[in-house]
Amino acid sequence: MYDAIIVGAGLSGLYALHRLRGLGLRAKVFEAAGGVGGTWHWNRYPGARCDVESVDYSYSFSPELEQEWDWTEKFPGQPEILAYLEHVADRFDLRRDILLGTRVVAARFDGGWHVTTETGERVSARYLVMATGCLSVPKPVEVDGLASFRGEWHHTGRWPHEGVDFTGRRVGVVGTGSSGIQSIPVIAEQAGHLTVFQRTPNFSLPAYNGPLAPETRRAVKAAYGLRRSLARQTHSGIPAEPAVQSALEVGHEERLARYQTGWERGSLVGILGAYTDLLIDRAANDTAAEFVRSKIRELVEDPADAELLSPRDHPFGTKRPCLDSGYFETFNRDDVTLVDVREDPIAEITANGLRTTGGSEYELDTLVFATGFDAMTGALTAVDIRGAHGRSLRETWEAGPRTYLGLAAAGFPNLFTVTGPGSPSVLSNMVVSIEQHVDWIADCLAFLEGRTIEATEAAQEAWTAHVRDVGAATLYPAADSWYMGANVPGKPRVFMPYAGGVALYRQLCDEVAAKGYEGFAITG
Ligand code: FAD
Ligand code: NAP
Repeated sequence: MYDAIIVGAGLSGLYALHRLRGLGLRAKVFEAAGGVGGTWHWNRYPGARCDVESVDYSYSFSPELEQEWDWTEKFPGQPEILAYLEHVADRFDLRRDILLGTRVVAARFDGGWHVTTETGERVSARYLVMATGCLSVPKPVEVDGLASFRGEWHHTGRWPHEGVDFTGRRVGVVGTGSSGIQSIPVIAEQAGHLTVFQRTPNFSLPAYNGPLAPETRRAVKAAYGLRRSLARQTHSGIPAEPAVQSALEVGHEERLARYQTGWERGSLVGILGAYTDLLIDRAANDTAAEFVRSKIRELVEDPADAELLSPRDHPFGTKRPCLDSGYFETFNRDDVTLVDVREDPIAEITANGLRTTGGSEYELDTLVFATGFDAMTGALTAVDIRGAHGRSLRETWEAGPRTYLGLAAAGFPNLFTVTGPGSPSVLSNMVVSIEQHVDWIADCLAFLEGRTIEATEAAQEAWTAHVRDVGAATLYPAADSWYMGANVPGKPRVFMPYAGGVALYRQLCDEVAAKGYEGFAITG
């Protein structure tokens, strides 16, 4: 019997193991993948890199680790982030308590948690920490006929370790979210011909990626503590000066100049963080959205393609914007074709490629599905988690997730979710949110000393209503996004993350703890 079972060995699971061990607890990690790293183990598609600067998209819990690790780029690629996480696993001697290649399929509570793995092994623990990731379950391909395809196909979230050779191939990419936007320019470099099947255009900003100069690294390291605490005081977990003005308070020229500076910063918050009301006021948002569209018109030579690539269906920032390296410019290449599958939807995959409902046929050797994930709830409901009264989490969340603080759920004692629905999670620099959650969970376990904890229905209802109200006061619900569950057919349309920002959220979580875990029942 372990003190805690942790499911997942990504950024969340690795840190959770380290913290729980530090408390003297016996913890075991189960990880479905053949290696540690989570997102950065699975997403090996060409061009995969982070959208938060490396020096911020990294753990802060160990000043020694901060000082000894040297990031080579502003936004490093997947291999470097994976190497970092492997280094963390080795440096903190985590591997001896991680069981790789082991998928958890069920967990049942009867005073403790009994976990069943895919191979039928049963393991028990007092506490269960689901560090299963918000973007770890790729959506199945929703198009008919894939089995008949004679070529090679891959989902970006399950990329083969040996890589894919596109040389001379006729390649089709379906999907233009962050994964598509990152991979398309790199695939275009290699492919004989690339066809991009776009249903919805996305806002994307140039990353201005490049090597990190030694003096930049030194400066960051010299003041790391300050940088981290600034990040924790922001809305997004990305260190930046807070906006103080409404976009509508300033004149057109001043606003354009501010957006231009934001554009050149190469950051998720460069433009979005410029004014206070970009995510709450449609007219304010329109000014930023139109600025980005004007940039797309400058970057894309063919006006028809430029218009097709210009998002008009959702406000800027209500889907996570992408940071790209030459995305829009890629459509100026003669060997790249943009196809609008909103206008003429994909009918089926055929033996030789893809056919649209309008009857257009595209001959393809390789298909790439950059079609996204069953986000936030997918990995949690994939496991048959049954709480105190035998009811499953899947049934309990049928109409959408209900949690207390995104950390716990009523009816599921001693269960914790890292960056669960109802927390800032995917709206933030995830590492900031992950560390905050893991620290909160570890402090809670230290406080409990083996006792049982369960969120009360009342606290859960109040928090879920608060999450909904805060979300409703923003523009987020205006988008058909994966934040809303809108990308998965049949999934309830509920805005899942907490839009109150990481600073306020941390304060609320700390207050709950300071009041002896207010809103939780503690027994035993
Ligand atoms: P994950 O890294 O997803 O790890 C969860 C692990 O749990 C996985 O390894 C999975 O195999 C395992 N698992 C799940 N279910 C089970 C089960 N039942 N049994 C056993 N194991 C299981 N966020 C940012 O803030 N900035 C970025 O730049 C950024 N870039 C991203 C790029 C991509 C391509 C993607 C997909 C996401 C990105 N994200 C980014 C979000 C990213 O998921 C988080 O930043 C972070 O890596 C999540 O860590 P995690 O440990 O919580 O989850
Ligand atoms: P995504 O944002 O959900 O994008 C999926 C794309 O596939 C969308 O363009 C979608 O079109 C399209 N699509 C889905 N199903 C389709 C279908 N049946 N037919 C045609 N098109 C279809 O997924 P993602 O790009 O993998 O990104 C998910 C999240 O992961 C991001 O928002 C981000 O948080 C994270 N991520 C970050 C980075 C990074 O920059 N570091 C990189 C990758 C991922 P519709 O919009 O019309 O549904």
